[in-house]
Amino acid sequence: MKKIQFTLFLVIASIIMQAQVTIKPPPQPNYEQRIRNYIDTIKVVDTHEHLMNPKGIPNSGMFDFMLLFHHYADDDIKSSGMSKPTFNRLLTDSLTVPEKWEILKPYWEKSFNTAYNRVVLLTVDKLFGIKELNEKTVIELSNKIQEAYKTDWLNTVLKDKCNIEFVINDSGDRSFGDTSMFRYTQRFNYFRIDSKEVINNLAKQNKVTIHSLDELDNSLKIEFEKAYEGGILTLKTTAAYFRSLSFEDVSKEKAEKVFNLIQKSEKALPFEMVKSLSDYMMHRMLDLADKYNTPIQIHTGLQAGDGNYIENSNPTHLANLFLKYRDVQFILFHGGYPFGSELASLAKNFRNVYIDLCWLYIISPSYSERYLHEWLETVPANKIMGFGGDYHNVESVYGHLLFAKEILGNVLIEKVESRYFSEKEALKIASMILHDNAVNLFKLKH
Ligand SMILES: [Zn+2]
Repeated sequence: MKKIQFTLFLVIASIIMQAQVTIKPPPQPNYEQRIRNYIDTIKVVDTHEHLMNPKGIPNSGMFDFMLLFHHYADDDIKSSGMSKPTFNRLLTDSLTVPEKWEILKPYWEKSFNTAYNRVVLLTVDKLFGIKELNEKTVIELSNKIQEAYKTDWLNTVLKDKCNIEFVINDSGDRSFGDTSMFRYTQRFNYFRIDSKEVINNLAKQNKVTIHSLDELDNSLKIEFEKAYEGGILTLKTTAAYFRSLSFEDVSKEKAEKVFNLIQKSEKALPFEMVKSLSDYMMHRMLDLADKYNTPIQIHTGLQAGDGNYIENSNPTHLANLFLKYRDVQFILFHGGYPFGSELASLAKNFRNVYIDLCWLYIISPSYSERYLHEWLETVPANKIMGFGGDYHNVESVYGHLLFAKEILGNVLIEKVESRYFSEKEALKIASMILHDNAVNLFKLKH
């Protein structure tokens, strides 16, 4: 009897749990296709790339199928067991295409399952019409890549294939790319000052002398103002690759002590000894961001490459900055993977915190889908930016965008099916997160 009661309880519980939050009337037939079609027509703002100058690619040592493996796919090839030096040999001219494939193949077969590698397959199919990778097709693919670069390939992919209106590139080389489309972010190297050499390099770069903390501060100010006048739209920090995102509000005296210690030391000091200076400089950069009304993009969550401390990149460490700099717009990158709900609570709780899904769909499509559902329930839609390829090579941007559009379509279709959104609302959301929000936040115009 108890068993029957328990089963009944489970059945009722599961019915209750399946019940949707039904707010809107049922949608009209074929809404699924209309949502997908609409997403395809949206001119996309790509909020984050590392695109290389296409002129350099023919001499890069990876002017073959390895172009599609050298970024992100490389992480999973190495994670599956290939050593770094072996992988690096694949990015040189010392091997032929068949030799490269021979070395790569066993590791491809160990890691073909991951989204980093699935996006390679999708890209190869959709851009080059090649359905699988093997010893024959890698030759064909390499030839097709070489042919493509004889044309205006960067533009063809970004404009014709991706329908991208603006792209924010993180690259020192600003000599390429359609000027009506390319915009920039910039990184500042003031958060890992651990030796005289680093200070001297900054001094040289900005043509100043740096013998005191005030002069270091001045160097940042000069560099920032130059970048601002040069038209950067946003700042970027990848500090979570080498330190915790917890930036204490340290006193000038404390930072000065560290500065003097560095000046006296012949060797680079361990990071724990110089953290206060790093913290101090982040606050100075945010003063500038505040003064010049420049948003800051912050790497949160998973670090690329092998071996790092994920806890360093937990976005909740940043809360003191959000509280202190209420008028600075903080854009948290990569959907905070794997801190998706923490990210939701921050973007919900702080007026000045935004979510950016750059890089995310190829880390995990299902995480992206799950959290996009959750973020659309928790965070005002104007604060979600839905696409940044985060790639060196333009081919993979296209593959990544196909992932993004499919997942966004899935989420919006489910939200309409469950009657959380109407079809009209879903279309509005799609336009906001792929285009309008970034246009508004970065004040983009032609
Ligand atoms: Zn990036």
